[in-house]
Amino acid sequence: MKQPVLYIVVPCYNEQEVLPITHQLFVDKLHHLMEQGRIAPDSRVVFVNDGSKDSTWELIQTLSKEQPLIEGICLSRNRGHQNALLGGLLSVKDGCDITISIDCDGQDDINAMDEMLTAYEQGCEVVYGVRSSRKTDTFFKRFTAESFYRLMNWMGAQVVFNHADYRLLSSRVLEELSHFPEVNIFLRGMVPLVGFKSTSVYYERAERMAGESHYPLKKMLALAFDGITSLSIKPIRLITGFGGLVSLFSFAMLIWVLATHLTGSTVAGWASTTSIVCFMGGIQLICLGVIGEYVGKIYMETKHRPRYIISDTTFNKK
Ligand code: UDP
Ligand code: MG
Repeated sequence: MKQPVLYIVVPCYNEQEVLPITHQLFVDKLHHLMEQGRIAPDSRVVFVNDGSKDSTWELIQTLSKEQPLIEGICLSRNRGHQNALLGGLLSVKDGCDITISIDCDGQDDINAMDEMLTAYEQGCEVVYGVRSSRKTDTFFKRFTAESFYRLMNWMGAQVVFNHADYRLLSSRVLEELSHFPEVNIFLRGMVPLVGFKSTSVYYERAERMAGESHYPLKKMLALAFDGITSLSIKPIRLITGFGGLVSLFSFAMLIWVLATHLTGSTVAGWASTTSIVCFMGGIQLICLGVIGEYVGKIYMETKHRPRYIISDTTFNKK
């Protein structure tokens, strides 16, 4: 089998504290795999600068000059992790045979790449990196993150449990993924839709080597909500079901109200009426909000705006 060209794609947003530590890990991994003869000598690490506000891009440019295995891609502004990752993957797909996407903070065990490569050699085109445990996460992060995967699956967005964006993809899979034109992207949910032979490898997740997480609870909730509404219409179905139940209940109430009225035993009930009105008002607003979310998604999709814009790269500049 010909040695595959591997590109490690790493999105970076305000990571000037982490990159000086972690870039060497990626380069060492490439060297190691090259020495073993498992990947081609023109394999690379590609850092995607997602419109960082600090000196991340300058750092990537310097690193790429010092180290021939490092390349960089700069997005014109911050577009978020998913877009940055997709931008990096689609930009390199024609120059390589496989990509492995990984965060730049050293949390994902880089040695799992060996196993991913073995799975690729055995014919898998998609290999998911799955966290076997979250011992180093705080209780809060573990609880919220695991609830995130449960909620996603329950709401009809099929995702691999405890798999983030650490995965191997062949260029063939990326080619097919590039034909998914949506602008609301959630790669964890989209990759399983592409299909092809896939498997998982397990690793222990470590702590961030430096800097801070960019996924506080607020962003995680936004990601879950985006993921669900981009991949599934189950929430709308739930609303319809709930609407049906409430209507049934109201119908029963109506009969009861009429019956009590006819028997002449009605009493002025301010409290019960007010609570029902408030309750129903709240429910209706939530339902409208969920439907509005889908309408908003359709609105964004109809604009066909580019998902990312590349303003600079280090390719062919050395
Ligand atoms: N990231 C990005 N754009 C953003 C936010 C994050 O490219 O707008 C990158 C970030 O540099 C890191 C990865 O996405 O490589 C994951 O982010 P982070 O480590 O902060 O998330 P966590 O691991 O805490 O969920
Ligand atoms: Mg992280």
